[in-house]
Amino acid sequence: MTNFAAWSVRAIQDGLAAKDFSAKEIAASSLENIAQTDKEIHAFLEVSENLAYEQAEKIDAAISEGKFAECGFLAGVPLAFKDNMNQVGTKTTCSSKMLANYQSAYSATCVEKALGAGAIPLGKLNMDEFAFGSSTETSFFGPTKNPWDTSRVPGGSSGGSAAAVASAQACVTLGSDTGGSIRQPASFCGVVGLKPSYGVVSRYGVVGFGSSLDQVGPLTKTVEDAALALNAISGFDARDCMSKDIQTDFTKNLDAGVSGMKIGIVPAFMEAPGLEREMKAKVLEAASNLEKLGATLVEIDLPHAQAAMSAYYVLGPCEAFSNLARFDAIRYGYCDPNHGDLGSQYEASRGKGFGMETCRRIMLGSYLLSAGVYDTYYYPAQQVRTLITSDYAQAFEKVSCILAPVTPTTAFRFGAISDPMQMYLSDMFTVSVNIAGNGALSLPVGLGADSNLPTGVQLISAQFKDENMLQVAAALESCYDVLRIAPPFAEGKVGA
Ligand code: GLN
Repeated sequence: MTNFAAWSVRAIQDGLAAKDFSAKEIAASSLENIAQTDKEIHAFLEVSENLAYEQAEKIDAAISEGKFAECGFLAGVPLAFKDNMNQVGTKTTCSSKMLANYQSAYSATCVEKALGAGAIPLGKLNMDEFAFGSSTETSFFGPTKNPWDTSRVPGGSSGGSAAAVASAQACVTLGSDTGGSIRQPASFCGVVGLKPSYGVVSRYGVVGFGSSLDQVGPLTKTVEDAALALNAISGFDARDCMSKDIQTDFTKNLDAGVSGMKIGIVPAFMEAPGLEREMKAKVLEAASNLEKLGATLVEIDLPHAQAAMSAYYVLGPCEAFSNLARFDAIRYGYCDPNHGDLGSQYEASRGKGFGMETCRRIMLGSYLLSAGVYDTYYYPAQQVRTLITSDYAQAFEKVSCILAPVTPTTAFRFGAISDPMQMYLSDMFTVSVNIAGNGALSLPVGLGADSNLPTGVQLISAQFKDENMLQVAAALESCYDVLRIAPPFAEGKVGA
């Protein structure tokens, strides 16, 4: 059976419009492929077969009435959601024991929009617990494997979202990015991962981690697919107080090329300790490709970016501490049966319901916000935030887009990083973007010369100028002959 999840959004839509196949066939082939491959990959926590067929029937009915054009940007596209997005009819576990039995009471705006645009919902995807992590190893339900090499992590926290695209289980997935959680797994799995500017996609119904940093975005095989998916899920939402009313067609610049464009390079990023040679080489290669396409490279300085990690690991845990306070075993979540009074109920339920990394973030946030400590850490971190935001604003007076590494290494092996500080370094090139609220994406640029594993480069845009980085990404993408699906999956061999 043809696996339509391996196709692009446009190819699926052209075929549907021409009645070459039906939405029901798309759903059936995607579900069958997941059944075959997910025993190995474990990208899915739940497969929503009934919801998929229900939606497919609606699309097929619209097509038979000659109304395909009204079905939306993602009509018939097999899609799956990270499991921190509420979707009626599914659980939303955040990969935590705390929410292992939590049934979504309503649907997130991004979920409603994707479904409203005609996407076929395949299920919910594995992640690091509550999105804390860079490898999916903190998932209560066990890790997801990297489709390129199953002894390696897919990255995180949206590891299931990246692995599902790389193994052709879904055409589009949604992930969330608080400090790099869409871009880093996209780089590890060789797919496009787009974190829009803060406010472009509503956060309503997405379980909060760092509310001032969280953004939802798509993971796809191609830049065009990412732009189409962003068209579908973006837009003003009165239920997210930080939602921005952007009415842009994110595909509008995809064919515009980069001739005459100024692209920034940050020398300090390129010299960062820990940036592996092959990753640096990929950024330099991308820079030279952009020059060949007619862009001009400009060195830019982000003088406070070196403080971004420190600021992020203050602000992130502080916001997480406050967001996770709601999991009190009364209104939500795991309630440990062996408890006495209210205090011991909190202690037992939270102590056993949350994993180690989640506890670490909560304790850190609680400490950082305590009297006396707050002034020493939280306040300066907010000052650093202002400085980083203005560094980016100044840089974008000179350039339309910045080219940078995404993450210092390719996918590492399971268990290879046990020191949390070392794990946090995965985000050294991504967190400053969340702090400033800009848009950024990870573009796959082929296998690394040393590791033979997927690599990505990062393109960063000014706030609410996401179409600029999509323009550069589309041009740059044309320079590479990237394998868009991990080899065993492209050939349909795994699990067969
Ligand atoms: N890896 C980072 C962290 O653990 C980023 C997580 C994210 O973006 N959700 O905080």
